[in-house]
Amino acid sequence: MKYCSTCGQPVEQRIPEGDNRYRYVCVSCDTIHYQNPRIIAGTVPVWDGRILLCRRAIEPRYGYWTLPAGFMENAETTIEAAARETREEALAEVSIDGLYSIIDVPHINQVHMFYRATLLDGSFGAGEESLESRLFAADEIPWDEISFPTVKKTLKLFLNEMETGNYGVHITDIRPRITKEEPHSTSSRNTS
Ligand code: ZN
Repeated sequence: MKYCSTCGQPVEQRIPEGDNRYRYVCVSCDTIHYQNPRIIAGTVPVWDGRILLCRRAIEPRYGYWTLPAGFMENAETTIEAAARETREEALAEVSIDGLYSIIDVPHINQVHMFYRATLLDGSFGAGEESLESRLFAADEIPWDEISFPTVKKTLKLFLNEMETGNYGVHITDIRPRITKEEPHSTSSRNTS
């Protein structure tokens, strides 16, 4: 952020009085511009024991397969957002069967939420943001071409539980990969 959306003057980063974090604050009108995580809502749409995936027609991850999901809009509920994204990306109407996963992605300031869903009549297609959509059986999921870690994680959890039909609610997170081994990680083996 460079300029104040209230008055158009430059902003600076500082900790406002009574706060404990850096915020963008307008140098002219003193407006504090708070920034908070964004919610991505989507579905795991099922029909006849198979899962509906869409192939992305937009960046990032153009050409990769994804569960229908997208940024929540103002004035809608998370369920409405999930159903709307499914309608827009997969041209599919769904009934929402329950919350399935909440995955925090703190290093990019996002929260991803997926609902279990059933196609209403089995019809689907490719919306403007999709190249195609299709139903995948459990052993057909294109794991190497899945768009995002939150989608992969949700699919893996879901496929494990699809065999039994006992679905939980999974609250988890995804952190950036640590490439270096922690220096203290070997010492824990020497406790005796
Ligand atoms: Zn201002």
